[in-house]
Amino acid sequence: MTDTTVNAGIAHGLYTEGDAIADTKAPGGPIADKWTTRKFEAALVNPTNRRKLDVIIVGTGLAGGSAAATLGEAGYNVKVFCFQDSPRRAHSIAAQGGINAAKNYKEDGDSTYRLFYDTVKGGDYRARETNVYRLAEVSANIIDQCVAQGVPFAREYGGLLDNRSFGGVQVSRTFYARGQTGQQLLIGAYQALERQVAAGTVEQFTRHEMLELVVADGRARGIIARDLVTGEIETHLADAVVLASGGYGNVFYLSTNAMGSNVTASWRAHRKGAYMANPCYTQIHPTCIPVSGDHQSKLTLMSESLRNDGRIWVPKNRDDCDKDPREIPEEDRDYYLERIYPSFGNLVPRDIASRQAKNVCDEGRGVGPVVGDFRRGVYLDFSDAIDRLGQAAVEAKYGNLFDMYARITGEDPYKVPMRIYPAVHYVMGGLWVDYDLQSTIPGLFVTGEANFSDHGANRLGASALMQGLADGYFVLPNTIRDYLAKGPFAPLASDDPAVVEAHSSVEQRTARLLAVNGQRSVDSFHKELGNVMWEYCGMERSEEGLLKAIDLIRGLREEFWRNVRVLGAADTLNQSLEKAGRVADFLELGELMCIDALHRRESCGGHFRAESQTEDGEALRHDDEYLYVAAWEYAGGDGDNEMSAPVLHKEDLVYEAIELKQRSYK
Ligand SMILES: Cc1cc2nc3c(=O)[nH]c(=O)nc-3n(C[C@H](O)[C@H](O)[C@H](O)COP(=O)(O)OP(=O)(O)OC[C@H]3O[C@@H](n4cnc5c(N)ncnc54)[C@H](O)[C@@H]3O)c2cc1C
Repeated sequence: MTDTTVNAGIAHGLYTEGDAIADTKAPGGPIADKWTTRKFEAALVNPTNRRKLDVIIVGTGLAGGSAAATLGEAGYNVKVFCFQDSPRRAHSIAAQGGINAAKNYKEDGDSTYRLFYDTVKGGDYRARETNVYRLAEVSANIIDQCVAQGVPFAREYGGLLDNRSFGGVQVSRTFYARGQTGQQLLIGAYQALERQVAAGTVEQFTRHEMLELVVADGRARGIIARDLVTGEIETHLADAVVLASGGYGNVFYLSTNAMGSNVTASWRAHRKGAYMANPCYTQIHPTCIPVSGDHQSKLTLMSESLRNDGRIWVPKNRDDCDKDPREIPEEDRDYYLERIYPSFGNLVPRDIASRQAKNVCDEGRGVGPVVGDFRRGVYLDFSDAIDRLGQAAVEAKYGNLFDMYARITGEDPYKVPMRIYPAVHYVMGGLWVDYDLQSTIPGLFVTGEANFSDHGANRLGASALMQGLADGYFVLPNTIRDYLAKGPFAPLASDDPAVVEAHSSVEQRTARLLAVNGQRSVDSFHKELGNVMWEYCGMERSEEGLLKAIDLIRGLREEFWRNVRVLGAADTLNQSLEKAGRVADFLELGELMCIDALHRRESCGGHFRAESQTEDGEALRHDDEYLYVAAWEYAGGDGDNEMSAPVLHKEDLVYEAIELKQRSYK
């Protein structure tokens, strides 16, 4: 039974509440001056002292690659890690549609303030104002930096950089390189990184996986990493550690993320004291190729940029759902986003477009094959655009995306409308950081998708690349120096108790995973966890469903440690072992996500609680109760199976530059 006065999470003993938490690094004064003030006030490190300071960066995607290149160029000793065989294979390479910047090249009313405003509103007023303003402020610098590196952004006939629009905005501020923006930006960051590798300021460790954080005297001082080729467990020490390890959307098993994306680096840090903020905020992207059965292990995104020219519709009548869409006349089509949201139309934000797609499919008006018990698809139709602009123009803008769709589905999207459906894509939650991007562990900084900082409860399209590069090229290099100026810290010996503890815990966990020798594959656990997460902590969440999910996840975790079968050995290349460690961490994270979703009895952005909606079925916030960031502290546990109830620390969100409103895109 639902108790309406006591939060269900507390009532069920699922969490406890601790002291409030606050960012203490953003300076006072007008919002537009804060970043300049902070850069001035942050301590400097003399160039000759920089080479005495060591920084470890975990991750070579846009956030980590840009940070490593910039800190290397500044003269620090940098060690950078990734689990792929090259920094260039980081998941950032998959990004398709573009990167935002408030350049106002189109003279259509854009400005730093408007990008800031759109991002805070898009995040449903659950992001920290100061961080978002800074993001908007440095956005224009990113484009200049990337152009200087030779990133081939699309250009207009006159030679200026071209722009297009993404969801949740009414200006054109998205810079792009066809449908390969992430790849081109990553090549830019990679070149800058390799320049520093050649210069000797950056040492690169590929096929290395961070499996533990070393915390000594309350400071992050290094990592324990496994060489994925030899299996050797290595200790790397430094004056500061930066996690740029990406997002954890793969907790849902099926997502648009790269198969290797995982939470291990963040989760290991969380277990060592770094708070995890808003872990339940997940982005479910409206334009993905629909699930076609239960054989899949990966879903494919069709970029949001397609919503600039493609029109989304379903048949008005259920009886038409089987028909060839080209035979359904105009008057029998429901362009439901244009109908419900006349101002923004097909370019409403992702959370809203996803929810409406779910609604029309739940009504029985979905298209495509029946999967499970209903049709999971809506049309994304380019026939108007092809008539208006010609096929060649559409091909020039989106050609590689159309080719990809045709290869995967066997259908020609120039002739038949694409079919799309929402899928897990990105996580707004992540490790809690202050204005300096420092976590609750001194010396541990977190950048890019791995932190929670800028997107509130829903991220606007093309703003993840902006954030990763803002963090790496401009923000972190200015804030980490304030911390490093206190160093170098006393060297840690390899037999320091903190190092020994971290090293041996990795060895023991590896041995334990191999020793279970049970009956079920790692993948089968991951898939079952993903089903639970999607069903109960996906597009719609309810108290009843979340309580059930927590039970199911606990049962699954208990079975995992009793019955998982990890093949192979520890001292060799062993992908089954790698995956097992990642799934074990997902099994803990999944529970925390459900507790977070359960405790937040409001709907905001991508977090839609069935119990909290407006009469029109839109997300209904409760600012009086939930205007805060939920920062969760790990409270220990009994081995790997049992987790003690986590502790909730609330960071109040204060809006001074923007007025809080119910979000509307009508
Ligand atoms: C299909 C797709 C398309 C997208 N398109 C866009 C777009 O058009 N515009 C936009 O703004 N955003 C887009 N996004 C989102 C965006 O791509 C990501 O949010 C962003 O690239 C994340 O960058 P990152 O540097 O934080 O992490 P990643 O690129 O995920 O890099 C993570 C790095 O950390 C390393 N790592 C992780 N764990 C460990 C560990 N334990 N040990 C060692 N190394 C580790 C990895 O090896 C990797 O180098 C898209 C996302 C997807 C899935």
